[in-house]
Amino acid sequence: MIGERRSGQFVTPGTPLAIIEEFLPGPGTYVEGCYVYSKITGYMLLDTLNKKVSVYPAVKSPNVPTVGSIVLGIVESVNFKSCDVSIKVVGRRKLSGSLMGVLHISDASPHYVESVFDVCRPGDYIKAEVISNKNRTFHLSTVDRNLGVVLAFCSRCGYQLSKENRRMYCKRCKNVEKRKASSEYWVLT
Ligand SMILES: [Zn+2]
Repeated sequence: MIGERRSGQFVTPGTPLAIIEEFLPGPGTYVEGCYVYSKITGYMLLDTLNKKVSVYPAVKSPNVPTVGSIVLGIVESVNFKSCDVSIKVVGRRKLSGSLMGVLHISDASPHYVESVFDVCRPGDYIKAEVISNKNRTFHLSTVDRNLGVVLAFCSRCGYQLSKENRRMYCKRCKNVEKRKASSEYWVLT
């Protein structure tokens, strides 16, 4: 599962680094089962003398979104003013873990929306642009046409919603809901 590891190797969150019996977990790592994993994106240091493995953060990492990055995530909690998004993909790169982003109502749509519940609901897949990463929080926008919900589920029965003109429709229970849907809304068969 691990393969050959050496100091200086570039690793990303979730990369298995060592077997716990061989190396103790140092900074930038975590333990799950019998393996030590990297918690961050950076460079691995194998301290063979002290039998310790650590990861030192990379200054610039391709897996961490920057301002302008397009990300894909799953909507977690939603309230009237904002929602939390668990970011799973940055650009074309799938993250081994996830990062939290926040979408505020004022960045959700080019039109006035009363509540974020009219933009997305928990469990929806959403495509967004990173507009700020102040204080290590990824602030998201879904204003552009191609941004917004790409796959949404019926709040009543959980079935996938179809995008029909400007409304979201559940073919199973006939429920009609609102979303800020992306022009690239996924059509599943
Ligand atoms: Zn339904």
